[in-house]
Amino acid sequence: MPTDIKSLTREEIEAQFKALEQPAYRVAQLLDWLYVRRAASWDAMTNLPKSLREKLREHFSLQTHELVRKQGSHDTTQKFLWKLADGAFIESVLIPANPALYGETSDRHTLCISTQVGCAYGCRFCASGLDGWKRNLTPNEIVEQILAVERWHETQPKAAEQELMTAATDSRLVNNIVVMGMGEPLANYDNLLKALKILNAPWGGGIGARKITISTSGLAPQIRMLAKEPMQFRLAISLHGATDETRNKIMPVNRKYPLKELLFACEDYLHEKGRMITLEYILIAGVNDAIAETKPLASLARKLSAKINLIPYNKVDGLAWERPSETVCEAFLTALEKEKVIATLRREKGHDIDAACGQLRLKTEREFAAIEK
Ligand code: SAH
Ligand code: SF4
Repeated sequence: MPTDIKSLTREEIEAQFKALEQPAYRVAQLLDWLYVRRAASWDAMTNLPKSLREKLREHFSLQTHELVRKQGSHDTTQKFLWKLADGAFIESVLIPANPALYGETSDRHTLCISTQVGCAYGCRFCASGLDGWKRNLTPNEIVEQILAVERWHETQPKAAEQELMTAATDSRLVNNIVVMGMGEPLANYDNLLKALKILNAPWGGGIGARKITISTSGLAPQIRMLAKEPMQFRLAISLHGATDETRNKIMPVNRKYPLKELLFACEDYLHEKGRMITLEYILIAGVNDAIAETKPLASLARKLSAKINLIPYNKVDGLAWERPSETVCEAFLTALEKEKVIATLRREKGHDIDAACGQLRLKTEREFAAIEK
């Protein structure tokens, strides 16, 4: 399989064009087709000479994700299931701007993207890991999720106010990225970083590093590597337990990198970057929702000057875990606030559309398997 053109940085494309004896301005034209106009085929690139298009077709692939399923409506969270070139399925979730922020063009849409097919980390509550890990996504497969959603959006009828919003700013629908879809992003470190570099570059996606959040289940060595990178990404830690005892029960990764080690790595990140970390905490009934858990949790948050994001658990088909009642969630939040830490409770978007990562893929794969039997 040839390298995909969307896995290459500008410098790499420039080197390739030099070898093909192409003038430098052709690179800018190509990048415009890829990242501004979101071209889905070589033939669409009409201002490139036909002979060049043929050469490019010979040397590189230009993969696009095929939309096989979509859930959700225009003004709510929408979930996309994509089929990749080898037939694997991945998901992306488009989250519209918070209504309270309307008018603020800086927060139009967030896209939650996947980085692997499946996941090897096997957190007990998560649908992504249920069928194990299949493979890493390539840089272009990560990048293409943004472009494919935007391409889809262009085909949709628009409300007048939406037209205005897009016309008044740049051409990007997606201006926030959260790497919280299927897979453990830091286990696909090189491809992730290459993809984010392309999405961040002014010649590529043009999405600010501060608008990109990477979520990890706690791969301490890679958190340290990330701390040394020049780009200022936001970091979110999927904590879900504030003691080794609780965390060991639900997250096997904690046996490899226990809390103390994770904490050191986060302190490193904080020290290098000076950026606030977010601690993600899913509330699961009877597992980690006791008020007694709030003290160690607050203590961790204070050590890291981190804010805590409480997320009521989304039920996964086939798993016995349950979301606590609203009263329990609110009481947990209140107890944290008494500990003088910053905490928010997500009053869910997308609960009704299998929004937790990996669920739509799992459902579709199982349905296909049933059809084939
Ligand atoms: N592997 C990375 C990123 C993908 S998971 C990580 O674990 O951080 C993104 C987030 O969704 C994680 O915080 C994960 O714990 C959470 N999550 C997984 N299953 C969930 C569920 N059923 N309900 C709510 N959150 C879930
Ligand atoms: Fe993998 Fe994250 Fe799911 Fe754990 S929560 S299984 S690390 S995707």
